[in-house]
Amino acid sequence: MFPLEGRGIWAFRSRVTHRSRPVDVRAYVRADDLDLLYAQDVSCAAGVGRTQFGEGRVFPVNPARNPSPEVVRLSGFADDGGRLVTAQVTLVPAGGTAVRSARHDFRREPTDSGFEEVCAFHHMTTAVRFFDELLGPDLFTDRPFLPLRVRVQDRAVRARVGVFLPGLATIALADGQLPAARSGDICIHEFAHAVVHRIARLDDEFASPVAAGLNEGFGDYAQATVYDDPRFGDWARQQPNRARNCADPTLRLPADPSDRYEVGAAWAALLWDLRSSLGRGIADAIAFHALHFLDAHCDYQDAREALHLADLALFRTRRAGRHRTEIDRVFDGRT
Ligand SMILES: [Zn+2]
Repeated sequence: MFPLEGRGIWAFRSRVTHRSRPVDVRAYVRADDLDLLYAQDVSCAAGVGRTQFGEGRVFPVNPARNPSPEVVRLSGFADDGGRLVTAQVTLVPAGGTAVRSARHDFRREPTDSGFEEVCAFHHMTTAVRFFDELLGPDLFTDRPFLPLRVRVQDRAVRARVGVFLPGLATIALADGQLPAARSGDICIHEFAHAVVHRIARLDDEFASPVAAGLNEGFGDYAQATVYDDPRFGDWARQQPNRARNCADPTLRLPADPSDRYEVGAAWAALLWDLRSSLGRGIADAIAFHALHFLDAHCDYQDAREALHLADLALFRTRRAGRHRTEIDRVFDGRT
């Protein structure tokens, strides 16, 4: 059915590609007379033919784990003016004008202006690729990803390091001696909050304490699995007792869930256990598809059930999910 002048008419959907040229035309033709209704060359929309790649100098994870910055490949550019903009994220400084390079050469030094924008762009596009592969491109077809603004060098959030602001569809990253943009663990944690908001609204104003805690845990786990390292905040927080580590065997889901970071640390640890048991690819899929079965009013029992439902949806056996026993075992181990 094709929408035309307020009603739906029957139409054929067709596709024309070319073996050696970057052409990929998707078209709709009217069913009764084959009149062309709509056509688009999606290869143009995908940026084929334009400069696809760029270079940037960044700390691959964070300055504690990578003592000196390295040159990495940047990709996903969706702006002809050479700004750090993709379909999903747009980078802006809190003050001054955004860095740009028509040839996408962003190899700047840490002392140069624009360096934090390049770092955050690298970390955020890493997060985009991770979640796109895991949850599919529909994730990015609505707010806050149209696109998500990432504001660096923001002194207003200095005390909180990084913060996702759903109403503004913005992630704000702190300035200061330890700029949060340089830290991939912080960036991916905040990006995960945007994903959680899009799917499950665990950050709702009236969310249960457990929902608010799971939201933090998803953020910690996302960055841990991307970097294959259980630490979080090891550079940005400097003080070891303020950083978190989801491989800590003592963490338990607290009976009183009023401290969301305490709940979050235990939830991330539970997911990290699942990853150790099932492998990262399987655990990541179950963990983040569980968001589809969670809402802002969830409790611990709902969280366990959400993992089972995700397992059932993705790895079905005859009656239950294939990993039912392992999910219950890691859940009980952190209770
Ligand atoms: Zn958080």
